[in-house]
Amino acid sequence: MTESDLPQPPARDLCGTMLVHRRLLNESTTYRARRAAIENRALQYERGRRSPVREEVVTLPVVVHVVHNPAVPGQDIGDEQIHSQLAVLNRDFRAANPDREKVPPVWRPLVADAKIEFRLAAVDPEGEPTDGIIRVATERRSFSFDDAVKASATGGSDPWPTDQYLNIWVCQLGGGLLGYAQFPGGPPQTDGVVILHTAFGTTGTATAPFDGGRTATHEIGHWLDLYHIWGDDDGACTSDDRVADTPNQADANTGSPVFPHISCGNGPNGDMFMNYMDYTDDNAMFMFTRGQVTRMNACLEGVRASFLVSSRTLAGPARPAPATLTSAGPVPSGAASPAAGTAAAVPAPAPGAAAGAPAPAPSPGPAAGAAGEHQAASSAAAPAPSFGPVPGPAHWPAPGAAPGATAGTDGQDGHAARPDGEVARVLRDSERLVTEVLQDIRTAIGLVGGDRADG
Ligand SMILES: [Zn+2]
Repeated sequence: MTESDLPQPPARDLCGTMLVHRRLLNESTTYRARRAAIENRALQYERGRRSPVREEVVTLPVVVHVVHNPAVPGQDIGDEQIHSQLAVLNRDFRAANPDREKVPPVWRPLVADAKIEFRLAAVDPEGEPTDGIIRVATERRSFSFDDAVKASATGGSDPWPTDQYLNIWVCQLGGGLLGYAQFPGGPPQTDGVVILHTAFGTTGTATAPFDGGRTATHEIGHWLDLYHIWGDDDGACTSDDRVADTPNQADANTGSPVFPHISCGNGPNGDMFMNYMDYTDDNAMFMFTRGQVTRMNACLEGVRASFLVSSRTLAGPARPAPATLTSAGPVPSGAASPAAGTAAAVPAPAPGAAAGAPAPAPSPGPAAGAAGEHQAASSAAAPAPSFGPVPGPAHWPAPGAAPGATAGTDGQDGHAARPDGEVARVLRDSERLVTEVLQDIRTAIGLVGGDRADG
């Protein structure tokens, strides 16, 4: 497949997430069922029928895949640019970004700390030390939203287990795309986010007006189950982002709008265009709301609960953080403490114990059905919530998916020798955590599965 064969999004689409979402809805009954179950859980949190249980900060282990064409040296971005991106994420998801002061007073009470931090992984899937950065040379001139960048077989880089690491691919993207994410509930072998290298971080090749690191903030918002704030209804005002405290708005805002910008009769305050989930420039978006954070919590305590374990064992040590971070909340137990540094130096706990870890590096193949997705996209609205049980093991239709790419059940952990002493203690702690989270997941499945519309 050549670049010219790839479907290209409309020029105005800065983010390809909904294109991927609609493609998966069309292709996969498993995805539709999983999205319905995930939506049910989010709705329970949104309506206050369930409350987030997490109080401590969770630290997500991140692996950055720099997929670059050697003919264009700038694509091989430097470590400093990657670290600058992590710093932005650690401010934005803690509501510690200085520009949040620009949020109009009427919405300041809604600004919320998601209590999520990000660290480059310190332990790779084999249990070896790592800096969390993978550099892969490619012959491709650019990538699209067809997930080719996520597999070595198609000129990209294979993911690390996507239930333990947040995989971020940084590359040249075509078609005006700044990035795209896969919503939770999708195929494990393509889970993660992709960011255009000139829209990544705040230094190096980062280019205005997308040099504030907010593309990654936006895409990770999707990865944690947030929709675009305007509801992707092309200005119809009929659909919203399924979060109550964000105003209904007609369509995406771009550039740097002036408050208030009114649409859908949402005056006097108008659109919340300074929300990370709009399309405004990096220096014009400053906030997640409480409702959005609740929705992210529903995701982290549900379909992405495995990260509550991997956060304690795989994330690297804290880098020097902005002073505002130190007072932003309680120090997470285990995540940012010296003990976490100890844990980071030992092999990971048995992968797959929590949620059926996929074997890394299955080849999804180029998205075979992608060419026909556009015409179907507008009619492929998300399915109405169903109240059936959470579906069983996934059966993804992608041709060529490697056996074992879906929920693994063999339980083999690959760690034959058991270490002693401190390492053994850390491992026991990790296994205990896995057990606890498994119990939480079973409880969640029972609640979702037993749920019925009650009026
Ligand atoms: Zn988006």
